[in-house]
Order: sequence, then C-alpha cells, then structure tokens
Amino acid sequence: MSVPAIHSEPDAGPLRTHLADGRELLYFFDEGAGTERPGAAPADSRILSPRPQTPLMRYDPLLGEWVSYAEHRQTRTHLPPASECPLCPSGPERATEIPAHGYDVAVFENRFPAFGPGSGGSPDDSAAAAPAAGRCEVVAFAAEHDASFAGLSLERARTVMRAWVHRTAELSRIPGVAQVSIFENRGAEIGVTLHHPHGQIYAYPFATPRTLRQLESVQAYKEETGGELFADLLARELRDGSRIVARGKLWTAYVPYAARMPLEVHVVPHRNVPDLASLTDEEQDELSGLYLDVLRRIEGLYPTPTPYIAAWYQAPVQHAGRNSYRMHLQVTSPRRAENKLKYLAGSEAAMGAFIADVSPEETASRLRRVLPPFGIRTGGKA
Ligand SMILES: [Zn+2]
Repeated sequence: MSVPAIHSEPDAGPLRTHLADGRELLYFFDEGAGTERPGAAPADSRILSPRPQTPLMRYDPLLGEWVSYAEHRQTRTHLPPASECPLCPSGPERATEIPAHGYDVAVFENRFPAFGPGSGGSPDDSAAAAPAAGRCEVVAFAAEHDASFAGLSLERARTVMRAWVHRTAELSRIPGVAQVSIFENRGAEIGVTLHHPHGQIYAYPFATPRTLRQLESVQAYKEETGGELFADLLARELRDGSRIVARGKLWTAYVPYAARMPLEVHVVPHRNVPDLASLTDEEQDELSGLYLDVLRRIEGLYPTPTPYIAAWYQAPVQHAGRNSYRMHLQVTSPRRAENKLKYLAGSEAAMGAFIADVSPEETASRLRRVLPPFGIRTGGKA
C-alpha cells in the first residue's frame, strides 16, 4: 500500500477493519520493533458467503446448564496444511482470514462461532431454548505458522496481554454478554483444528458453570469463616511452599493442592481483581513474564511439544460476587508421561469425580527444576 507507515505509539489503540462478510478484525502492534503500523488496514479481497445464523442453545434443567448447538461448526476448517492455513498473513497468491501481509497480533470474529453473531439479552433460566447470542473471536499470536506462545518474546506476550485486556473490556459492554472467557487450546491431542499459534475469546450470554461454582464457594466460605477464599488459598500455598512453581511480586504460580490433571498450574494475582481489564499496568507486565515462564517450564518437561489448555477465568460481567472474585489462569495438560495421555473416562467424564495419577507436589517439583526461579531472571522479587 502507498499509505505512509507510522509507528505504533504506546497508547495507540488497535487498527480496526472489517472482513468481506462484515466480521470485525483488529490488529495490535508490538510497542518496540514489531511490524510497522500502516495508516489504514488492507482490504479483504475475498468473496465470502454470508455469516451463519446465530445458533440455538437449550437448557438442561438436570444440571442447570446451557448447551449450544452450533451445527455449522461441523464444516469448519480441520487441520489444514500450512499452505492453506487461514491464520497466516495473506500473500500475492492467497488471501487468508488476515488480509495484511504481516502482523504482530490479529484478533477477528470467528467465522464459525459457537455464540453469535447475534447479540441480545441474557436468557432466562426458565426458558427451554434461546439464541446462543454473544461473540467468539480468534486471536492470532504471531504471523509465523510454526511459532508457539512459549517461544514468543516478552514484548509480544505483552502485546497479546494488551489485546486480551482490550477485548475483555469491549466485549463486556456488549448487551447480553454475561462473561468473557479467554483460552488457548494447544495440540491436536486435545482437539485443536488449526496448528497456527492462536487462542480464542468467548463472550457468553450466560455465566459459565465452573465460574458460578467458584463464586458459590467464595460466598459460602465468607459466610462460614468471614474470610476470603481466594486469599486464604494463596496464603496456604505460600505457607506450604511445596507446590509453588514460580513467584513474583504481584502473582504466584502453583500446582493446586487438589490438582485434577497430570499437569495443572494456576497463576493467581495477590489481590481480588475481577478480570484482565481491571489489572494495573504493573500487574499486566509481571503477568506477561510469569505466563511465559510457566509455559516454558511446561515445554521443558519433555522433548516434544506438550498439549495444554490455558484458560483465563474472569468474573461474570454483572454478578453480585464480582468484587470477591479473583481472575486467574488455569493451565492444564493431560500429558502424564512422555508417551502417555490421561483420558477422561467413566469416573471423570461421567461422574465428574477425578482420579489423579500424579502427586501435585511431584509435578511442582519437576516444573521448578526446568528453569531457574522466575524472580532471579527477571529482577523481580524471588
Ligand atoms: Zn498459519
């Protein structure tokens, strides 16, 4: 393009555009020597079929949970070769989901969303069915097809963090959005359909079951003891020390006392804070480094890449217990040995009762040994 390139400034927002079918696309730029920020976003040259209808969801009164029926997702791209990857930048011969010829971080609306594209009011639990309104976005972490989050620079991790913060704040304002959740599924073993390093953002029209259970526990604990559950859990981990993986000034990473999965690390802030959008700049910065540290420890356990789910738990947008919540990250992996995966079977998948194979203390000890302590390399508090 002939438009003059200008460098991204620290406070510059994302560069926004729309894809050929109307979906929104946002580019976020590294603050240092990343891709030059163009004056205008390149146009999408493709002709795309219209966006799918908003799926329907049904209410399961036995468990009190909503189930979304996104049948159009059956036709979505499944493990394409790199030459057909929809998340690589566009080139002269091939137009992808990302029209730019290079980018740092790109966020766009999912072509096959489980929620949306329609938005509207949150459903009533007395309804049997409702539109699965909301929004699903894809976050491409890097233009390089073979990159991984653990291999990103600290600066890029900060850019991804800025994108997550921005999207959490903006999606939380959409009418009817009840909770914004961010996750990365990594590895074909756990169902990833695209290899290109990416994560997803779901803006749900309801508060998700696990978060609601956590909020109920926080409330019950307060009524019984007068204490703060998240604060007391962290204090217990710090006192014991045997499950701590990495410790910063504002965040701590540990294997929880009652971990379910063979690899499970929680990264928690040192104060109650409902979501990413409510973090201070200092908290965002330390979290970017600590998240990389945790992923690199997981990567260092085995000679081949480890599949994982990294899920960011955030408080529902409008919930009475929001200020007692503590947003946090849970990274879990079913890998229990170099060539063995844990499968969720009868007890776990059917009954919801977990039988763990490895002791949390042993997992933490292995993860600690992979790298020197977090604080020592970053200059933070050890
Ligand atoms: Zn790719």
